[in-house]
Amino acid sequence: MGLLSLGTPLHWNEAKQYADHVRSHGIDQFLSVYRKQRSRKKQCLLWGDEVEYVVVKLDKENRRTKLSLRAFDILAQLQKPEQEYNDGNTEQPPDALWRPEYGRFMIEGTPGAPYGSTFRDLMNVEPSMKRRRQLAHEAMLPDEIPVTLVNYPRLGCPHELDIDIEPHGKAVQSMFVPDEVTNPHARFPTLAANIRRRRGAKVEINMPIFHDKNTPRPFIDPTIPFDREVFDHDREAKNGAAKPDHIYMDAMAFGMGCCCLQITFQACNIDEARHLYDHLAPVAPIMLALTAATPIFRGYLADTDARWNVIAASVDDRTPEERGIKPLKNDRFVINKSRYDSIDTYISNDSMYKDRYNDLDLVYDKDIYEKLRNNNVDDLLARHMAHLFIRDPLVIFKELLDQDDENSVDHFENIQSTNWQTVRFKPPPPNSDIGWRVEFRSMEIQITDFENAAFSVFIVLLTRTILSFGLNLYIPITKVDENMATAHKRDSVLNDKFYFRKNVFTNDGNKNATNGNGHTAAEEDEYELMTMNEIINGKDHGFPGFVPLIHSYLNSTNIDIETRCQLTRYLSLISKRASGELMTGASYLRKLVTSHPQYKQDSVVSPEITYDLIDTVDRIARGELKAPELLGEFNA
Ligand code: GLU
Ligand code: MG
Repeated sequence: MGLLSLGTPLHWNEAKQYADHVRSHGIDQFLSVYRKQRSRKKQCLLWGDEVEYVVVKLDKENRRTKLSLRAFDILAQLQKPEQEYNDGNTEQPPDALWRPEYGRFMIEGTPGAPYGSTFRDLMNVEPSMKRRRQLAHEAMLPDEIPVTLVNYPRLGCPHELDIDIEPHGKAVQSMFVPDEVTNPHARFPTLAANIRRRRGAKVEINMPIFHDKNTPRPFIDPTIPFDREVFDHDREAKNGAAKPDHIYMDAMAFGMGCCCLQITFQACNIDEARHLYDHLAPVAPIMLALTAATPIFRGYLADTDARWNVIAASVDDRTPEERGIKPLKNDRFVINKSRYDSIDTYISNDSMYKDRYNDLDLVYDKDIYEKLRNNNVDDLLARHMAHLFIRDPLVIFKELLDQDDENSVDHFENIQSTNWQTVRFKPPPPNSDIGWRVEFRSMEIQITDFENAAFSVFIVLLTRTILSFGLNLYIPITKVDENMATAHKRDSVLNDKFYFRKNVFTNDGNKNATNGNGHTAAEEDEYELMTMNEIINGKDHGFPGFVPLIHSYLNSTNIDIETRCQLTRYLSLISKRASGELMTGASYLRKLVTSHPQYKQDSVVSPEITYDLIDTVDRIARGELKAPELLGEFNA
């Protein structure tokens, strides 16, 4: 989620006065890295995954769950081996690295060391994830479990926390969750409070409710305390923030309390990183749809399957002027998206890239752009950075205002790491051995380690296939955005179509370039709408499909039989999810709710249903319960 620094965090009124200071030094810090590292080469691929977990208390006797707010204590325990190793007390490197996340009920685990570049390394992913789950279990109380659900289904409903706390927090001012659901590290409550202060209102999240037979129409949520007036902001719900027929949420925790599966790769040089960034951008919405696993919010079934828009709204710090609701007076830009959103601009100078793909009217800081250009940063990269830098720094630590710009990237990271986009281009940290990297951020966490390993390995193999075959996946960025919207739809995997490039083998997108079949490829004919099945498994006389392409790539390499079999299992899971033979996490969870004997067909996910749902996914994740609709013949 970003760097943790220590110190006194500034209130927004003070922080905003240093915004230009942070931005200008941030750019100097980027330029210093860029100058020193632009020609840096790394021989081989290194990569890693990040798995985020929710900590749940399972009361088996009373068949009730609570959200555990003990993540901090659990992390202290989990981080011991890393600490010991860093302190030189042991030669034994840690099996896993553990980090805090936004929620006080979340933990994040990564492998102890990056995976290497060999196929054999891919075999280490699932054992590493299993080991992490085991370590997490061991660090918890006997009645606590780490669950890889995207969110706690009843977050924000009364009496769902392991300590009963009323939602009257000063920082977040939510009607539903107390400040105590936020990680207590100063960075997080300040982030939430400064987002609210900058925006001038609480964040406003509305996800459409799933209308079942007995769900009232219109649905006006009876559980919203419309007349509560502890804070001025409490009037917002009544004044229209809470929309009819929607599940209304008013706090960062509903979004940033969601768990995802992220993959980071080290590229062999800056150009490869830029190339992969661009090619993974159109893949991001496809993978959001395919991994979708978030059908429930605040105790209700939603009519959507994915988390992304909830997080986008949960950190949307744009002022009314920036959102285009009021005419621009005090602010500098009208900004089309939240800080957490899909990317706005491609960055590769590769010959496959054409200006027409960057068809969004990019908002960027002209002065920063000029400065970057004057320092020999090329147009596309300068536009990208100047676009990220339209944002204000949200959390500034007083003690860290003055930095050595040649050796620190604190100010750069302040802006960079609070632009939570579908893919992230990451410069090498100063004074380290790490190269240029790309982070793939759209995937939702899956119930089992098998699935999480399968999706991680799939993405890594896809990058190798893209590079090895020189695939061209470019489509206009506005079409990528349309795909993001489609990815949220209930069962989009089965029912919807996504824009996708028709001929991925043209590496020359010129207007009259000929493709492999000798046909001319007109610009407007570059992409079309395809089903998920066509994108993943291929289309007759058209796009061969990601899975078949990866298989041909694997056929062109030397792999031992055992590894090949395992990779085939992973690819088969992806393929079956796309064809609908297996369910997505979202449709599986939805079905657990709607087929529950106590479900009243009113969209309500009660505490009883939540208990059974969490107990079920935990047993599936432990391998105690088979889930053929989700996993087919595979084992967790
Ligand atoms: N949990 C966030 C998500 O679901 C990402 C936070 C992070 O960047 O680590 O996308
Ligand atoms: Mg994280």
